[in-house]
Amino acid sequence: MIQFDNVSKQYGDGTKAVDSINLHIKEGEFFVIIGPSGSGKTTVLKMINRLIPLTAGTISINGKRISDYDIHELRWDIGYVLQQIALFPHMTIGENIAIVPELKNWEQGKIKERIDELLEMVGLEPDIYRSRKPHELSGGQQQRVGVTRALAANPPIILMDEPFSALDPISREKLQEDLIHLQKKIKKTIVFVTHDMKEAIKLGDRICVMKDGEIVQIGTPEELLANP
Ligand code: ADP
Ligand code: ADP
Repeated sequence: MIQFDNVSKQYGDGTKAVDSINLHIKEGEFFVIIGPSGSGKTTVLKMINRLIPLTAGTISINGKRISDYDIHELRWDIGYVLQQIALFPHMTIGENIAIVPELKNWEQGKIKERIDELLEMVGLEPDIYRSRKPHELSGGQQQRVGVTRALAANPPIILMDEPFSALDPISREKLQEDLIHLQKKIKKTIVFVTHDMKEAIKLGDRICVMKDGEIVQIGTPEELLANP
């Protein structure tokens, strides 16, 4: 579903962040990218939704080059969850979740329904949380909303960049469990970046290990544990 062919990224200052990688991420797969800080994980993620341009190679989604997609179509069909909780502070939780459905001109009744459905899915009582502002929620609750916002318009692909690393261990573990259940239910293709091997093994169908912009190992958690 997501195919990288000889993809490289060199930043303007000469930094080679990704060095000719080849990668095939399957539909419905929970794909984890792990590696030390600076190994190129975020760069890989940002190239998928064209937040940064490639220097060489091609990335295709469902056989079509990302450069051939309409940029809005591409961004709206790829949910993106960041490490820093990135909810808009002046907007309510409901309004934050509704951003992409609004851009896609969903009808209002359908948007309201979707907000409540998503809040319920992550265990936030809609009548209580829908009209709250982000600062009235805990960090873990805000990150839940961040996940629902990425899911709102039903994108087939979700990119997650260390989404739980800023949370306390208990919230992190709870959100990991929730994400495993959620993934089974919604069957999205998830590309999840982390530097935590325990998290990678717990969540990943397959794990890709990066170092200095290259893929040094790729396989199921069992394969990686058998072959460290
Ligand atoms: P290019 O060389 O292709 O012009 P840039 O180095 O200017 O790329 O940055 C590309 C993108 O990465 C920009 O959208 C910018 O906002 C973002 N960016 C800039 N600095 C950093 C950084 N230190 N870490 C992560 N992203 C960054
Ligand atoms: P990771 O996500 O694994 O920490 P990154 O993809 O953020 O790695 O960064 C890979 C390399 O590219 C690092 O050396 C980093 O400093 C560099 N880098 C990231 N963004 C930029 C940028 N916008 N401009 C210049 N160098 C960058």
